[in-house]
Amino acid sequence: MSRIKRYYVEINESCQVLKCSNDFLVYIGRKELLNIESIIKDSDINNLKDAVSSLEKGDNTLVVFRTVCQDGSLNWMSANVHRSKHDASIIKLDIYDLHSFEMDKAEGYYDEMTGLLSKSAITDHAKRLMEQTNTPPFYFFLMDIDNFKSINDTYGHMKGDEVIVEVAGILKKCVGDKGVVGRIGGDEFLMILEKIHTEPELRDVLRNIRYDVREKYADEDNNYTITTSLGGALFPTDASNYEDMFKLADKMLYIAKAKGRDRYIIYTPSVHGDAKVDTEVVTITQRTMQNRIKNTLIMDLMEGFLLNNKISLKEAFNKVIDTYMLDAVYLVDKKTGRSCFGLSQSGEDTAIDLSGLDSSDYQPIFETYPIKVINMYDLQKDNYLKFSEFMLLNGFRIIVVYYMRNVPDGGYLMYVSSVNSNCRFSETDFSDLIYFSRMLELSGKMQTGGPFAE
Ligand code: GH3
Ligand code: MG
Repeated sequence: MSRIKRYYVEINESCQVLKCSNDFLVYIGRKELLNIESIIKDSDINNLKDAVSSLEKGDNTLVVFRTVCQDGSLNWMSANVHRSKHDASIIKLDIYDLHSFEMDKAEGYYDEMTGLLSKSAITDHAKRLMEQTNTPPFYFFLMDIDNFKSINDTYGHMKGDEVIVEVAGILKKCVGDKGVVGRIGGDEFLMILEKIHTEPELRDVLRNIRYDVREKYADEDNNYTITTSLGGALFPTDASNYEDMFKLADKMLYIAKAKGRDRYIIYTPSVHGDAKVDTEVVTITQRTMQNRIKNTLIMDLMEGFLLNNKISLKEAFNKVIDTYMLDAVYLVDKKTGRSCFGLSQSGEDTAIDLSGLDSSDYQPIFETYPIKVINMYDLQKDNYLKFSEFMLLNGFRIIVVYYMRNVPDGGYLMYVSSVNSNCRFSETDFSDLIYFSRMLELSGKMQTGGPFAE
């Protein structure tokens, strides 16, 4: 599958060539190569030299430089540089000719917008490291900007782009020579922290990232703050291949988001359990697709349900459950505390019953305007112990409640996500749910007392 040309060279500390594959000599158009500096563009030599001098025994790093061919042309190369574990005076270079990529832009080596490694480049790099037998343990971390969609929505896409570029710069600075950073999705980044082997070192870097991003925007004269969530684990202790490592890091990122964002979570088996055998994790590609659907869903539902009656209420709820990865939606009668309608993720009818609770255990939480996001983690703090118990018992993690004051007797629309679900709400999701709920309320098709009007 690989379209990339790959060469092998061994050098010493002063960049003198100890071994060189024949095809590399052919490639650079020379009979012999004594010092690798002689074929590297002057301005790029230090990239390699700095990497070599910073490498400890057994370490790897990634370096990029341009080689000068005999006809004077320049070619971008990337080298995986490794200092031998057995003989520290030997530096092995696995050199890749980046021009041999048939560089369609999407597959390019660099992310055009930020200059970080592209998704394919950092993925290849991580996989290569993982396949080598002598790789020391390293941390694998994902970072995602919190509520980034609302920056786009409020200040426009251009501002959004600016923020992505600035955050990328901060990441690169904080990681420094301790690893590499790539952009793998809109506002999502992957860090391979090859030279970080202990948790205190890791915490230093993660803390700096969070702090520097926050500071950057706090300093300016703007009404928004930008925070980040991070999640990751240690290779190969926590997972032994790329896919499992990614899932584990994504799961930790998801927990960071679920706990309220603006934090980092390092996988700890005693705390997070054996996440490797856990439920499926939603990948970034799936989330990107989901985001695209979200952009049009609410408008489509308004049109189909309200204007031309093409979509039934059940279909509308089904779509909302799917798109926002909810576990269930309920309409609860305020008077009885019982649901008169409930639909689960599998499309089956389901019910919820609050009648065992006193209405004072939930009413003050539910009847806020325009919606209330109830996070299981916050309830105890706010002293709603009974309702927190109820959520725990039912395995609910987040409930978004919309209080319908305009339907006869009032009612609560409840969007529920359980502790095992992949649902990850962002701020714009909440405003979508407000629109959707209000649309239902105004449709006149909702009533909690009698049969459900369709
Ligand atoms: P969360 O806290 O859960 O991460 O919420 P979020 O709003 O950041 O949501 P998410 O990370 O899922 O969405 C990222 C959004 O980034 C979705 C998409 O509209 C936007 N986006 C993707 N690529 C680009 C880009 O290149 N530029 C800009 N400005 N926006 C982008
Ligand atoms: Mg985000």
